[in-house]
Amino acid sequence: MERIFLNEHLRNKFGERVQRIPVDPGFVCPNRINNNGCVFCSEQGSAAAWLKKGMSFGEQLIKGEGIARRRYKSKKFIIYFQAFTSTYASVKELDRLYKEALSFPGVVGLAISTRPDCIDDDILDLLSEYNKKTYLWVELGAQSMIEDSLLWMGRGHSVSCFTDTVNRLRSRGIEVVGHIIFGLPTETKKDMITSFKDFISTGINGYKIHALHIIKGTQLELMYRTDKFSLLDMNEYIELVEEAIRLTPKDIVIHRLTAECDISKLVAPLWVLKKDAILGRIKGDLGL
Ligand code: SF4
Repeated sequence: MERIFLNEHLRNKFGERVQRIPVDPGFVCPNRINNNGCVFCSEQGSAAAWLKKGMSFGEQLIKGEGIARRRYKSKKFIIYFQAFTSTYASVKELDRLYKEALSFPGVVGLAISTRPDCIDDDILDLLSEYNKKTYLWVELGAQSMIEDSLLWMGRGHSVSCFTDTVNRLRSRGIEVVGHIIFGLPTETKKDMITSFKDFISTGINGYKIHALHIIKGTQLELMYRTDKFSLLDMNEYIELVEEAIRLTPKDIVIHRLTAECDISKLVAPLWVLKKDAILGRIKGDLGL
């Protein structure tokens, strides 16, 4: 089966390995400020584990570049604005940060992770400008295309908000990478696949999937300990992901099929730590 994964996509585009450098310039998230945040969201808001509090933006770039060079021998980089909501700031501040990131040696692009309800027209104009200057993609969490699931997760946006934002970005030629979760207790396996079909038909250019897992100190941990809802087992997850890949058009780039988890912060399920085994099985089963 032919499907394209992110590393291969970037290698085709730039002629060599390109490594993402995750940064945390100190953004916050409106869903944490105005509501209770998503039930699975941890204090770190998905920032990379090596990013320590107090590091300046410049220090993060230098440290990230060092790791990328040592571990992956990369000389080209995409700066990945990953933590919290990376468009939740003034246009001026975003412009300053994006400019600084692009001026760092070896940087060939930007990846901006945000919420679908955090791209107003001024930010869209800014992103369009950067899209002309560099390789850019915007990551948007849908997490599900089922309204009841969005409510259960406390996402604070609707399905139509996600689809509208994908349309607005795509109408400016900006690539969109969507995020989706398998294993929400509000969904049957059939619902998950239906949700996935709706997700890939929105016009996204790439996606990330991960299994619902529970991190210490989150609202989800409390809900899990109280309600004892069941989580997917590894075989169920693999079967769902394999079905999702079969449904994926060849031009959609697969960015991620499992989450990165810190063992010291994980409550359940423990199998999500077996990233290599999961990917190996999926690739072997599908001949990827
Ligand atoms: S949108 Fe992201 S950062 Fe904000 S509460 Fe949800 S998971 Fe956390």
